[in-house]
Amino acid sequence: MSWWTRQKPSVSPEGPEESSRTVKTEGLWTKCDSCGQITWRKALEDGLHVCPKCGHHFKIDARTRLELLFDNGQFEEFDSTLNSTDPLQFVDSKSYKDRLAGMQKSTSLRDAIISASGLLNGRRVNVCVLELKFIGGSMGAVMGEMITRSIERSIAYKIPIVIVSASGGARMQEGAISLMQLAKISSALMRLDEAGIPYISVLTDPTTGGVTASFAMLGDLNIAEPGALIGFAGPRVIEQTIRQKLPDGFQRSEFLLKHGFLDAVVARGDMKTFIANALDFFCI
Ligand SMILES: [Zn+2]
Repeated sequence: MSWWTRQKPSVSPEGPEESSRTVKTEGLWTKCDSCGQITWRKALEDGLHVCPKCGHHFKIDARTRLELLFDNGQFEEFDSTLNSTDPLQFVDSKSYKDRLAGMQKSTSLRDAIISASGLLNGRRVNVCVLELKFIGGSMGAVMGEMITRSIERSIAYKIPIVIVSASGGARMQEGAISLMQLAKISSALMRLDEAGIPYISVLTDPTTGGVTASFAMLGDLNIAEPGALIGFAGPRVIEQTIRQKLPDGFQRSEFLLKHGFLDAVVARGDMKTFIANALDFFCI
């Protein structure tokens, strides 16, 4: 028996009171994944969820992102009642239908995206934000349809569009139908381009798979938050395929900027101003 197991009985002598004390303090402090700094959660929220010590950008949910981008945090939502039909009747560790229902309950969203419209520094902009917490921000038919409709509204009303990505890629539970969304959104973006309406793609941690392979890299500007993982296949798969060790910082924003895959790396606190200035430049 080790020292630890001897010193730490499985049932706490303090009983339930001890566990309730633990629950009360839980979540007040957050440890930085990058530097280990422990920060008061409220201070982290006030600092846009960026580590005050090292500048690490914590993941934020879609609604928080929209509140940061729109004036006074106010926006209108579109197509929020669309629901996946589970076309393949897919079952993995549990049925896709049950998985969707669980996610819908925990996130209060119908799918991994919020499509919104509002004012960004006084200019009307459509903004779609992917929700990583909803099945890894994966792209199925609902996301494809919501983004396409948002692009079509941008064309109809001549409003710029911003898409903020955070996704593991296409949704395997919808098989080939999820892959169809790559082509569907890309062709809608082509019509947007022909109409001369700007599209700014914002890539956040992580943006991978079919999302990178389609709309996330098709912006008139492709900009990313610092330190975001951006790629198609993961580093382990690439290393096994090319049988070479990958360099430090591979598939991170700064590496991609250096190698010409991104136009800018923009800190969260500067993102709104950067997008507003870019739209001022594009929309004469
Ligand atoms: Zn840190």
